[in-house]
Amino acid sequence: MRRRIGALTVGALLAAAMVLGGVVMTSATGGETRSGTAIVEQAPPPPGPEPAPPPPSPTEDSFRSAPFDVTPEVKTAAVRFVESVGTWSPSSPGDALTRLTAAGYPDGLAAVAGPLLDDNATTARATVVYPQYGGLTDTTASVMVLARQELSGPTGDREREVLLDVRLARQADGEWEVTSTIDPPRPAYAAARPGGPTERGDEVLAAPRVRLPEPARDDIEQRRAGDPILAVLAELGRTWDLDVHVLVSGHPGTVFPTTRVSNHTVGRAVDIRAIDGRPVAEIPRDDPVLTAFMAAAGAAGATEVGGPILPAGAGFFTDAVHQDHLHVGITPTKPPASAS
Ligand SMILES: [Zn+2]
Repeated sequence: MRRRIGALTVGALLAAAMVLGGVVMTSATGGETRSGTAIVEQAPPPPGPEPAPPPPSPTEDSFRSAPFDVTPEVKTAAVRFVESVGTWSPSSPGDALTRLTAAGYPDGLAAVAGPLLDDNATTARATVVYPQYGGLTDTTASVMVLARQELSGPTGDREREVLLDVRLARQADGEWEVTSTIDPPRPAYAAARPGGPTERGDEVLAAPRVRLPEPARDDIEQRRAGDPILAVLAELGRTWDLDVHVLVSGHPGTVFPTTRVSNHTVGRAVDIRAIDGRPVAEIPRDDPVLTAFMAAAGAAGATEVGGPILPAGAGFFTDAVHQDHLHVGITPTKPPASAS
């Protein structure tokens, strides 16, 4: 409950600041937030010191659930957390922990928010690119939130992409809340190795049809992702435009909610969130592209191929979590998935 009150309060303050700053905000329900400069009347400047500049516009509405999104309220809670802790201005409370608690979150979440915090930046704005499920049960969830964050401060402006494994728990009142509890504990990811990308890594980094967010790019440059899965990715990227969501870094370490180590953790799996620019959560389930992609992943060497549908054959799977992405992984002891 604290979170909701906090979010409302922050929203009201921001709205007031926007009006004072002469910025008109329009926000479609669940849609994009746009800001303009439609000032009709120029009032004389108020006496005294200049008012503080308005804080960055709130972007809580940037997640629009797709037709096949399962339990969208879970994603909405995860997106709100990432955008509110990743967005601040000079008039926000000075330190990250204070901002976190001011937004209504318990201070235990500072560790989760860590990659979004930067004490050298005076202004930051986080915008969610896509929230993808990492796991879902009736009472617990993991949402891997990919966000773009613009930062500025005394040393200049910069932009980065961050992928956070946001965990949520369903409260007694049915509401989903972000939690700092990671159960079972997350095992360590495959260690970075020196030497830069492998030849196969270079191929994927240069593939014109494979789009990689920064954390996935780093996994390739630091050799966390192995050559076998990169070969599968390169092969699939010859047929389709692919938006990769995650390779290693940012994925839950174990197959949610079990203790079994995920193939992502050891550099043997990739999740694709969109094919030819169409988010998987929006592709009609009878669209032939889903079967074609999943079969092609098996033919390219993947032993486990998960998605929104279950193609006939071996090595394929589907469940609630995989309604919004395609999982392509390799377990060395298993044969490649094959369609029948
Ligand atoms: Zn996966």
